[in-house]
Amino acid sequence: MAVSKQQNKMNKPEIDTFRKKILSWYDRHQRVLPWRAATGKKPNPYYVWLSEIMLQQTTVATVGPYFQKFIEKWPTIHDLAKATRDDIMHEWAGLGYYARARNLHKCAQMVSGDLKGIFPEDQKELEKLAGIGGYTSAAIRAIAFNKPANVVDGNIERVMARIYAMTQPLPDSKASLKNLAAGLSDGREDRPGDYAQGLMDLGATICTPKSPKCSLCPVQDMCLGKAQGIAETLPRKKPKGLKPQKYGRVYWITNDNGEVLFERRGEQKMLGGMLGLPTSEWLEKLPSRPPKGFKNSKLAVLHSFTHFDLKLDIYEGSHQNTLISPEKDHFWVRSLEIKDLGLPTLFFKVAKLMK
Ligand code: SF4
Repeated sequence: MAVSKQQNKMNKPEIDTFRKKILSWYDRHQRVLPWRAATGKKPNPYYVWLSEIMLQQTTVATVGPYFQKFIEKWPTIHDLAKATRDDIMHEWAGLGYYARARNLHKCAQMVSGDLKGIFPEDQKELEKLAGIGGYTSAAIRAIAFNKPANVVDGNIERVMARIYAMTQPLPDSKASLKNLAAGLSDGREDRPGDYAQGLMDLGATICTPKSPKCSLCPVQDMCLGKAQGIAETLPRKKPKGLKPQKYGRVYWITNDNGEVLFERRGEQKMLGGMLGLPTSEWLEKLPSRPPKGFKNSKLAVLHSFTHFDLKLDIYEGSHQNTLISPEKDHFWVRSLEIKDLGLPTLFFKVAKLMK
């Protein structure tokens, strides 16, 4: 059921009150985050952009150390633009969703080059840059430039669902929730950046997915979910179907010096551009025979991607006996140095098993 008209729209004085409550709560309770400007200081758009890209699908706790590492190594967008792709992929290893890292580099080069290091304030212009979609452009506009924008991340989506007692399940309710959030932020010049971050912080610390702390919430008297006693059950979600399972082989190939063969993965593959061990294709069914010269180690690695689960059987071979020979994108690595390669988690698991 979508929320009825009577339920969903706050009038102007109610919107003013809602925003005032969020802003004054934010002034007292905002989280200290490494990419946030201290009170009274101007945010650094480079920090805002970098953190927003890192935070896509990733928690604040995980992002913290990566963000620090990046800004120490590349203090400005120009430094990041000049970095090599390999260096960026290496520092990104472990954060997952590697297309983000490739786009990060492209975007840094676009901003550092044509735009002379200045991020645009306009959402349409921001969205012309690599890796910046609707959510990220809104977040950069609001947080970096303090301009009105409808920022709706997972935290804000949950707060909206509860404030408006939206019982229609996600993902079908996404557009309605975005609309409801827009009703509270469109055209509002009163501290748009702080308001967006206030809602994010409220969702992260008070209006949490489980056991929301409604008695501490600054907008509890305006919350329909609380009034109806259903807040904790919101947002509702459609049950997820099972993820497809894929299978494949991963090859652990050694030479006489005890070194292991690695490759740079092709752009179009999963984990494209990252370092990895050679693998077969990943298919719904494991091809019945391995290539010549490999022996089944009887070990396997399991890994879950967003859209499928993967099982890779580990096959061992030696350089002389296998048909895979080091080419342009293949190279040998001493086993002691494998841990420093910046491998994605999938291949790191294989290396750990083979140790
Ligand atoms: Fe969330 Fe409770 Fe506040 Fe409603 S009252 S917004 S459910 S914390």
